[in-house]
Amino acid sequence: MLIGILGAGQLGRMLALAGYPLGLQFRFLDPTDDAPAEQVAQRIAGPFDDEPTLERFSAGLDLVTYEFENVPVSTVRFLQTRVPVFPPPAALETSQDRLVEKNFFRSLGIPTSPFRSIQSRAELETALVDIGLPAVLKTRTLGYDGKGQMLLEDFSAAGAAWTALGGQPLLLEGFISFERELSIVAVRARSGATAFYPLVENRHEGGILRLSIAPSPHAGTEIQQRAETYAKLVLEKIDYVGVLAIEFFECQGQLLANEMAPRVHNSGHWTIEGAETSQFENHLRAILDLPLGSTAPVGYSAMVNLIGNIPDRAEALAVPGAHLHLYGKSARPARKLGHITVRAEDRDTLRRRLEQLTENISEMNGNHLHRREPAAAPATE
Ligand code: AMP
Repeated sequence: MLIGILGAGQLGRMLALAGYPLGLQFRFLDPTDDAPAEQVAQRIAGPFDDEPTLERFSAGLDLVTYEFENVPVSTVRFLQTRVPVFPPPAALETSQDRLVEKNFFRSLGIPTSPFRSIQSRAELETALVDIGLPAVLKTRTLGYDGKGQMLLEDFSAAGAAWTALGGQPLLLEGFISFERELSIVAVRARSGATAFYPLVENRHEGGILRLSIAPSPHAGTEIQQRAETYAKLVLEKIDYVGVLAIEFFECQGQLLANEMAPRVHNSGHWTIEGAETSQFENHLRAILDLPLGSTAPVGYSAMVNLIGNIPDRAEALAVPGAHLHLYGKSARPARKLGHITVRAEDRDTLRRRLEQLTENISEMNGNHLHRREPAAAPATE
């Protein structure tokens, strides 16, 4: 069984690593060199919108999936004429544009932050009055990890924000003073069966995920049920197949959907050691029409992203219950180079182990784990 994956980043690499025990083989398509997945499987180098490249990539494949949401929809439609592709293109169409995505959530009755579409400076000024301050201006497309966003704290900032981001379709959102950020990783199989991992609590900084705690210590049964209901509405509306993640702000008893990712997700990396079946294996099971694996947590987990620097292996692994994942990337500021999941049988032990890990790697990792305040929206692109 040969599976093609669009994108050869760390998510693709971890998909392949989860697929080898199931007897699967992989081929990646990615235009960029230094691609983490090519160390573990064949990579076709070339652009996503070049038909001869797509022909070469798809020859002999049994199935195609993707590991990032900015794959052109036309690429998926072209490949679909040759080989089954999961998840469906509707998932890409929805998640590639923040305005479409927010309207989609609203159409399903899923609450979001207040938002307005912005096409001109005049619209920005009107929307700032309507929505109020602070507000976050975002590009509608191609934003990730806080890129293409600006926090506006007073009306005089509108001019600079327009200069920085104007000239492309934008979205203005009310800034949410959330109590916490939560995400749910959900999976739907070709049979229509669904499964949900427990809600995870995420801490971002500068728009980049730094730390996930799983299961969230603050999410009781009621909020878990609500997140599952929302996720199920999304999965069923677009006849989704595979893993999908939704990020929420929890604010005054409400779960506000911020965005969704039609793929395996950074806030699900803990499932490799911290759940009965990892998100990567469950994505493969879902697209292959296999029974889904249990999403039950195994103890308590914390996942720390390694951003910009790689810590000393021995210091990281000196912490009991720590599991190191390096993606084989060269170091660059703000680049996700790997992650560490720490696991424990109870929350107190997890807290102690996380503190120890933080001490051991904080010098290397910018010391962000000591900060507890909610991350503000990133200031610039
Ligand atoms: P996004 O690219 O939309 O996922 O935003 C990245 C991060 O910026 C989020 O995880 C939040 O920490 C922060 N953020 C984005 N939008 C808002 C908002 N409307 N209110 C408060 N924080 C936000």
